[in-house]
Order: sequence, then structure tokens, then C-alpha cells
Amino acid sequence: SNENLYAVLERGFPKDRSSVAIETPTLHYTWDDIDRASACLANFLAALDLPPGARVAVQVEKSPEALLLYLATLRAGLVYLPLNTAYREAEVAYFLENAAPGLVVCASKNLDWVSEAARRAGTRYVHTLDDDRTGSLLEAAGSLPQTFHTVPRRPEDLAAILYTSGTTGRSKGAMLSHGNLSSNARVLHQYWGWSQDDVLLHMLPIFHVHGLFVASHGALLAGARMLWAPKLDADLALKWLPRATVMMGVPTYYVRLLSDPRFGREHCANMRLFISGSAPLLRETFDDFRARSGHTILERYGMSETIMLTSNPYRPESARLGGTVGKPLPGVSLRITDDQDQPLGPDAIGHVQVKGDGVFSGYWCMPEKNREEFTLDGWFRTGDMGRWGGEAGGAVVPDDYLSIVGRNKDLIISGGYNVYPKEIEGVLDDLPGVDESAVIGVPHPDFGEAVVAVVVAKPGAALDAQALADTLRGRIANFKVPKQIHLVETLPRNAMGKVQKNVLRDTYR
Ligand code: ATP
Ligand code: MG
Repeated sequence: SNENLYAVLERGFPKDRSSVAIETPTLHYTWDDIDRASACLANFLAALDLPPGARVAVQVEKSPEALLLYLATLRAGLVYLPLNTAYREAEVAYFLENAAPGLVVCASKNLDWVSEAARRAGTRYVHTLDDDRTGSLLEAAGSLPQTFHTVPRRPEDLAAILYTSGTTGRSKGAMLSHGNLSSNARVLHQYWGWSQDDVLLHMLPIFHVHGLFVASHGALLAGARMLWAPKLDADLALKWLPRATVMMGVPTYYVRLLSDPRFGREHCANMRLFISGSAPLLRETFDDFRARSGHTILERYGMSETIMLTSNPYRPESARLGGTVGKPLPGVSLRITDDQDQPLGPDAIGHVQVKGDGVFSGYWCMPEKNREEFTLDGWFRTGDMGRWGGEAGGAVVPDDYLSIVGRNKDLIISGGYNVYPKEIEGVLDDLPGVDESAVIGVPHPDFGEAVVAVVVAKPGAALDAQALADTLRGRIANFKVPKQIHLVETLPRNAMGKVQKNVLRDTYR
């Protein structure tokens, strides 16, 4: 059978193709619409006669049509390359030059500078797509046939290049195959108990693994309806939540819901599953959300290069442990190693390395990175540090649960001692008046690196850096106590809500 990801997803569409697949505040798209519109767009792409494996780079605002363009790219057998809408000229130029796409689709307001960057990258075609169903792409595709024979693909054929979020440095293009994506979608379908009765609240961006793959594939493969909005909108979320059965969000989405005094149990009457990922979920958010909504957020862990790796259990709900990312998903092998790639047992902090059906084949055009990031026997180095078992929130964690401790690039080595920022952040966050914190290492002449904390106060709370440092001194070893504590209004975050420690390191060095 055809292993094109679209063909795999389509097998999950409901029998009744006249039912609603995507609902926006103003429009309904049926499953028939998805099939026909993606066929029109695929006919358009096929007519461009791009060589096999050609990239279709897309930087557009989130809309149902943007998702349809993704599906059409799969159907036409081309390679989808989504770009964060926040990227500006120099950044987009880097991606286009790096990926040399055959077609670029952009927002019409950016057409001038995108065309110029595309010309320099040797791209043949540039089209526009706006979030109000206008643009040259739809104009060109609108009159084309509404049927298309999805191009046969093998599992190993490239489906997408996903650029990493650039949290630790320059973004890298992860090459993902039809097989990587469909196997992960199938596993999550089972693991999270998706069905046609589900209704997904989809407020995540679709230029990233979370919103594009985990969320959209989940709903499409289940034949479930999506309630679709371009971003988290608290009013709309409160209006739609009572009809939703599944919500996926980055941790800040849950913080935002909790900060809305209207949010409560009545909004979750139909809810089956709240999922969080992309960045660590604070213990406090996990606990507060349970108290407010009666639901336990399920935290999972993954990355652009591997798609989803671990998940807290779906059932029983009491097996979802805050502060952990759960257990390896079926088909994933995961180990914690020392610096020599030797596996470590429970309780020890080490490097997270993985193998599995979802793991990518390498970075686009970065042979030296591929050599560095895979061990000789084929394990991918995630760059994250983790631990089996141990302890979270004062409770003992079973040995088959993983906790993420942070990124190895954020590890601080001060005076020869390893300092894990997350441990200090945890202590700081628990102090009265502290909203959140980020702990970084900055160069220091004597210690190599010095520990520095950047702290945000709770609204209305007056914090004193000296008093915080004094309190810490009584709770953690001296070498872990920050040499400096900076009080700030907000922490710098990227589009996925991740704290940008490289920005902080530059600021406070
Ligand atoms: P770059 O690789 O360019 O520095 P990035 O790693 O942030 O950016 P992504 O692939 O989007 O790019 O994000 C994957 C990373 O997100 C993981 O390696 C991990 O550090 C973090 N992450 C994802 N889910 C979780 C989670 N539940 N808890 C903690 N961290 C998480
Ligand atoms: Mg990364």
C-alpha cells in the first residue's frame, strides 16, 4: 500500500466525508473539503514540475489553507519546509539559502523581501497565501481539478524538513521521512486513545512539531474535528473548551488559562485529555491546574529531530507524574549515558540518547553535525540531560519514568562542580514572591563559570536580591548559590514559549 503520509492519514478519515473536519470561528471545512482542496493544491504543485525531493518553503500565518498546503505537498511527493512566522529578512534568507527550495510561499505583505531572498537562493517560484483565503497560490490552484492521485512514497522518502527552534544556537533542518511521521502518529493514536468522537482544541502554531505533527496528525488520523484558531486566545478558548475533548498546549498556555479568573471545572465538562510539551511544565502549574480543573495534565517529551519520545501514561490518570515526562513510547529506545556514551542506571543524571522509528535521518546539509550528534552505533544525542526515577516534587519517581533536567549546553561547571540550573530554578520558584526564574552560567576568571539567576517577581511582590541569596544559602550548597541575582520583568522566550538562555547569557556575561 502507499506509505505516503497523506494516504496513511486519509485511512483515518471518517466514512461520512460531509462531517466537519476543521472549524474556525467563521468557517467549517468538511473532510470532503480537505480532500478536494488539497487535491487542487497538489495539482498546482505537480504542474510546477519540480524535481523529486524539491522543498516547498512556507512562511505564512496559520490558517486552514496553510494546513491544506502542507497536505498537498505530501500528496505531490514534495518536501514541506515550514518557517516560523516571527522570522525576519535575515533569518528567512538563511533558511532559503540553506534549503534551496523550489517554491516559496509567503504572506503577501512580505512578498518583496521574500522574493529577493528567494532569487538569491536560486528559487524558481514564489507565491503568496494570506490567512483570509487570498493570495496568488489559491488563485492559481482554484480552477484546477479537485481530484489527485496521491503520489506513492516509501517510508524512507523525505516528507518534511523541520528547522529546530533555535533555542541553543542556529536552527538546524531535521530531515523527517514519511515513515518517521506516520509511525509516530500511529503510536500516539493508540497511546492517547484517539477516536472519531474527539474534538481537538488547536491553538498552536503549525510551523513546529507540536502543532503541525503531534496535534494535526492526531486529529486527522483519528478522523476527529479540530477547533482551529491562529493562537491562544483566552476568550475563544473558554468558549470552545466545553466542546473539546483534547487540548494540546505549551506550558504558557496552561499558565494563561490559570491566570484567567473565569476558567474552572465547567469548562472541562467534556474534556478527556490536556497535553503539555515543548518546554518544561512547572510543578506549580501542574498542581494548580489539577486543583482548578480536576484534570491532570499529561506531559510528554520530544523534539524536531525525533518527534515524540516519551509520554506520561494516559491511564490511570494518577500515573501521570508532575515533573516527569513519563516513559519511552512504544518503538522508542532511550538511554541515559555518561560522557563516554556508557549507559547509567536510575538516579544518575546523564545524556539522553535515543533510537526509534521517529528518529530523523540527519540534518539537512550538515554532514559534520550528523557525525557529532549520532554515536557510532546509531544513538542520537538529544542534547538534553535526564534521569530515570529519582524524585520529583518530594515524591519518589518509579525507575521507568524519565525526568528532563535541562540541556547539556545549559549545564554550568563552576569550580569543577556540575550545577544543574533546573535544581536551583526549582528552589527559587518555590520561594514566596517568585513567579519564575532562569539560572545560567557566565564566564568567571576563578570558577570557569559563575552561577547567575534571573528572577521574575509575582505581580505585586517586592523581591530583594540579597534576601533571596541569603535564603538560598540555607537551602543549597554554596557552590550552587548564584553569585548574582537579577530581578527582571519577564524572561526572553521564543515563539514556542521556551526561555532563551543564550540571550540571557549574552546579556549578563
Ligand atoms: P535548538 O535545537 O535549535 O536549540 P530546540 O531544541 O528548542 O532548539 P525543538 O526541537 O523545537 O528545538 O525543541 C526540542 C527540545 O524542547 C527538546 O530537546 C527539549 O529540550 C525541549 N522539550 C520538549 N518537550 C519538553 C518537556 N516536556 N520538558 C522539558 N523539555 C522539553
Ligand atoms: Mg534541539
